[in-house]
Amino acid sequence: MQRVSCGVLARVSRISRQLKENVCNLSSSSDCLQNGPKIAVVGAGPAGFYAAQYIAKARSDATIDIYEKLPIPYGLVRFGVAPDHSDVKKCISTFNKTANLPNVTFYGNTALGSDISLEQLKRCYNSVILSYGAEEDQRLGIPGEQLHNVTAARSVVSLYNGLPGAQDVDINLDTETVVIVGIGNVAIDVARLILTPIDVLRKYDTTEVWLEKLRNSRVRRVVLVGRRGPLNVSFTVKEFREMLKLENVRPIFHKEQYLPFKEQVAQQERGRKRLIELLFKSALAEPEPVTAERWARAEKEMELRLLRSPLEFLPGSDGKSVEKIKLAVNVMKGDTVEGTEETEEIETGLVLRSIGYKSIQADEELPFNHKKGVAVNVDGRVSEGVYAAGWLATGPRGVIVDTMGTAFKIGANVVADLKEEQKGKPGRSGMPSLPKSTSWADWQKLEKIEMEAGKLLGRPKIKITSVSEMLNKIQS
Ligand SMILES: Cc1cc2nc3c(=O)[nH]c(=O)nc-3n(C[C@H](O)[C@H](O)[C@H](O)COP(=O)(O)OP(=O)(O)OC[C@H]3O[C@@H](n4cnc5c(N)ncnc54)[C@H](O)[C@@H]3O)c2cc1C
Repeated sequence: MQRVSCGVLARVSRISRQLKENVCNLSSSSDCLQNGPKIAVVGAGPAGFYAAQYIAKARSDATIDIYEKLPIPYGLVRFGVAPDHSDVKKCISTFNKTANLPNVTFYGNTALGSDISLEQLKRCYNSVILSYGAEEDQRLGIPGEQLHNVTAARSVVSLYNGLPGAQDVDINLDTETVVIVGIGNVAIDVARLILTPIDVLRKYDTTEVWLEKLRNSRVRRVVLVGRRGPLNVSFTVKEFREMLKLENVRPIFHKEQYLPFKEQVAQQERGRKRLIELLFKSALAEPEPVTAERWARAEKEMELRLLRSPLEFLPGSDGKSVEKIKLAVNVMKGDTVEGTEETEEIETGLVLRSIGYKSIQADEELPFNHKKGVAVNVDGRVSEGVYAAGWLATGPRGVIVDTMGTAFKIGANVVADLKEEQKGKPGRSGMPSLPKSTSWADWQKLEKIEMEAGKLLGRPKIKITSVSEMLNKIQS
């Protein structure tokens, strides 16, 4: 019964979308039903949704079309944020409200650079907001990085979150020790998702592929390697607390890495003080009896190794797979970090890089800073009528709330820049036809299928993890 109503929903929405477009196609652009400004948003992640939300509220006469590469929305909220951070994903209900506004239309399975171009968007829309995120990972550029089992932390994230196209990556958990290079929130998320018991992860929408990997995992220890000292860690207090509380996992700190900086804890700025105090307290204090007992029982370890820089990855006897990572021991000189002659090695069967992301130039018309991996922009303004928002504009910085703040600002810039005489752009009706695009109702249908599949296994949902399967299910 539910499936029938789902199909009907999808068909009704498709027909109403076609009607909307046909009305525009039949009339000349100036006669078009919607006389207000036409806005295109590229990328249905937080930045795209928040910018659309702002504009829809400020200009109820605007027609807003959201183009998204994948058949489904939400960007990193679905494919980045860890499954056990379900509270963070609550922003999805706000995105849904925006998508359901009568003047907002979602076109999934439509990528800038292959299905549509910036030139077309500029011709058809008064304002174009590019918010297609940062999908490439930064590399270390050191010897041995090409070895098997040296890969991006992002591959693991994509695997446990079900990113289409990333489900076949080979992540080797047949090893005692995993090393993660980087000491931010993503590094902690990945470490936690490797060490958390399967029963806990089953309660969330973690993919079956990842749970299966964990069933066969031999990992007992995850080492997070950071270049700088304890005053410079870039994770946040929530993620650090989660690390401390992880069931069956003992956190390992090296006291000597903290002692030289002890006096500076009190001088930390307010925003970071809570985190740094907790970090030092955890690293320097003797564990309280209850905690000590829990730690003694813990089978696994999560280690923070600070003041270390990767120098080289060394292969095992096959010459192909990583067996060790060689680290330089660093010292802090004021605010700068300096290497010393001293080195050390860690034996490992999997190294994950987690040192940041960068965007790509999806369309050659977009002015792009290849070194920084961001669109060239001033406060989100790229050129007349073209804007960049979210991680494409700022680089991979901050959490969703930060992205929201900058996206609202860009929305405000778009509204302020709209000129009365700019009417007459055709919007979607001037764009090429998109026979393979997916609609919002298609996504709602897929979501229902995911939830029903989850119910059968006593799980919140079973994510569909391939584009072809999504498209088949939409057609069925
Ligand atoms: C692993 C990870 C975990 C995170 N965890 C948290 C957390 O717990 N809490 C928190 O607050 N923040 C978290 N963040 C940060 C948060 O995800 C970002 O702040 C936010 O997603 C950035 O939004 P965005 O819209 O710029 O990019 P994205 O979320 O990446 O959205 C970009 C969208 O554009 C689409 N796209 C890409 N290329 C094209 C194209 N050519 N054409 C059309 N569409 C395209 C993508 O498919 C995607 O849907 C995390 C980030 C990562 C990487």
